[in-house]
Order: sequence, then C-alpha cells, then structure tokens
Amino acid sequence: GSTIGILGGGQLGRMLSVAAARLGFKCHIFEPGTKPPAGDVAHAVTTASYEGIDALTRFAKACDVVTFEFENIPTSALDVIEAHALIRPGREALRVSQDRLTEKNYLQDLGLTVAPFADIPDAAAMTQAMNTVGTPSILKTRRFGYDGKGQARLKTPQDADAALADMQDAPAILEGFVDFDFEVSVIAARGPSGDVACFDPGENVHRNGILHTTTVPARLSSAQKTDAVLLTAKILNALEYIGVMGVELFVADGQLIVNEIAPRVHNSGHWTQNGCTVDQFEQHIRAIAGWPLGDGTRHADVVMENLIGDDMDRVPALARAADTALHLYGKAETKPGRKMGHVNRISR
Ligand code: ATP
Ligand code: MG
Ligand code: MG
Repeated sequence: GSTIGILGGGQLGRMLSVAAARLGFKCHIFEPGTKPPAGDVAHAVTTASYEGIDALTRFAKACDVVTFEFENIPTSALDVIEAHALIRPGREALRVSQDRLTEKNYLQDLGLTVAPFADIPDAAAMTQAMNTVGTPSILKTRRFGYDGKGQARLKTPQDADAALADMQDAPAILEGFVDFDFEVSVIAARGPSGDVACFDPGENVHRNGILHTTTVPARLSSAQKTDAVLLTAKILNALEYIGVMGVELFVADGQLIVNEIAPRVHNSGHWTQNGCTVDQFEQHIRAIAGWPLGDGTRHADVVMENLIGDDMDRVPALARAADTALHLYGKAETKPGRKMGHVNRISR
C-alpha cells in the first residue's frame, strides 16, 4: 500500500489516519510537538520543526502524497515537501485561506457575499474603517487565528483603540458584525477529476468562540441548501481543489454570507462519522489518493457535541447512553478550552 503523509498530529490527523488505515494505507505524521494524538494510530511519526529541511525531506520522500490537518503551514516547508511528494489539497487553497484579507478578496471576486471588511495595517486605517465598516464589528488578525483567538469585538468606535492594542501589531482586518439568524457549514469533497460531493449542511453553535454543537439537518429551506452547495462547489472548482474543505456560512435574513473556508477536514463535519456511510475523513483520503468519492448521503439525524476540557468528566455517563457514539482523542492532558473528544447522538 502507499503512504499518506499528514502535516499535523492533532485529532484531525488522528481521525484521518484511522480512515486511511481502514482503506489499507499507511500514515506518516509530521508534527513538531511531542505526544501527538495522531501518533498512537499512525504507521510512523516524525517529530521535527517545519524549519528542519533534512527531516522534512526524509518525511516527504517516504510519502506518496502529503496532506495537512491545519492551514498555517510555512511556505518554506511546502517548498521542501513539494520537491519530493504531491501536496493535496494544492497550495493555492493554503495561500488563500492562510490570510483572512486574501480569503475575503478571493471569495468576493468569485461573486460570493462576505461581511463588509477593511484592511487594517495601522491605526490610521482603523480611523478610516470606522467610517466604512463602522460598528458593531470584529477586528481579526489576518493570520494564525482559530477557535476565536486573535479577535476583538467593537461595540462602538470608542472600542477601537483597545481592540487595536489586542492585536499586538499583527496585521488585521475589521469585519462588520453579521447579525445572523444561525450559522451553517458545508463540508465538501472534490476529486482529481473534478467531481464534487457535498455532505448535508450542518447547523453550528459556538460557545466562547469554540464550536459547541453541529446539528443535522440544519434549518435551511431546500432552495437555501441548494444555494449553499452550489456556492461551495464554486469555491472548490475555482481552487481546483482536491480533498475535503469546510465552508462556514452565516444565514442572515435568508441570505448566505461566507464567513471563512478551511482547506481540510473540519470539526463541524464530525457528525458524518455516524450519519453517513462514508465520513469526511474517508472522503478526504479517497480524494487525495485518487479514489472515487464515496457515498456521503446522510442516513440519520445527528447532533455532534464537542467535549472540551472538563466535559471529559461526562464520559462515563455518555458511554452508557443510547444512540450515542463517543470519539476520544487520547490526549494526555485535559486543559480548559482543549478539544478532548466529541460525541455524536443519532436519531432516525
Ligand atoms: P475557527 O475555529 O472556526 O477557525 P476562527 O478563529 O477562524 O474560528 P471565525 O470563524 O472567524 O474564527 O469566528 C468564530 C465565530 O465568531 C464565528 O463562527 C461566529 O460565530 C463569530 N463571528 C466571526 N465573525 C463574525 C462576524 N463578522 N459577524 C458575526 N459573528 C462573527
Ligand atoms: Mg478559522
Ligand atoms: Mg470559523
């Protein structure tokens, strides 16, 4: 069998490795941190930094195709890997999604609706943006944000200075606050031949900036579902994307506004593990390995809930509950705000 390289050894890398193993592949994890959750289930692990050219080269040579579980991979590391292995999804998706400004412009150029936004390189730009984007709004670092980190909310223009100070000189964008009715995401896959398959959109609820639950079906009309799927396919096709992507949308006054894209399997797609014959992890492995995409039809209603920090105390009770599938990541330490596992509750 051939070997799939995965950059990042967190829970997404772990679940990708399990899916790959089921299809007869071996996974090789590259991860700078020690004791990566994916390490327990992978065929091989390289513990090294993304600056280490030798380690990266050896890793890439050992792999037939290299994929990733997070979007903030240094360009220099991708250059090294690309000389020896195929990178899927391709680098264009990383370039676009690594920077919120690039991403917003890209989506807007595709004709999609995004929140009003302004580039905030400095304090003068912030003053300007108070006249264009205004408040309420959210200041977000252009790069490296996740789980709501690197964000500051502005209720009134008086909050501008404090919000800027929060960014600690990192380049940022100001986004108009979308008064959404609810949030959904579309998890979609595109194969090398250009075929696209979308999972049923899920409805997402966040707590403290972190995904709390995903519920399928979402409260979308069938026309909205079609629109969500079509706009998602437009993004994947434009990027000539290969693999699974998560597209986060706001639903406001019936309108679909694109929040952000994630060029990887996505937390809001975990429900597919117990709601579909082929889940997002297998679908990603199939796509990057050049297999036909699998059947992602939803066969149950599902509520996925993340188990964060002390939620782990509920595991004994959850283990006894009916129609409940537990997925635990085997992380050594429980910390507040750390994703430790998730639970899928199904009903038919
Ligand atoms: P993720 O962990 O999904 O990558 P992130 O740190 O990249 O999160 P966003 O997805 O940009 O952050 O924002 C996190 C959440 O904050 C959103 O899902 C939404 O609930 C809220 N939010 C972000 N931007 C806006 C906005 N412009 N208007 C209203 N709510 C917003
Ligand atoms: Mg994000
Ligand atoms: Mg998000």
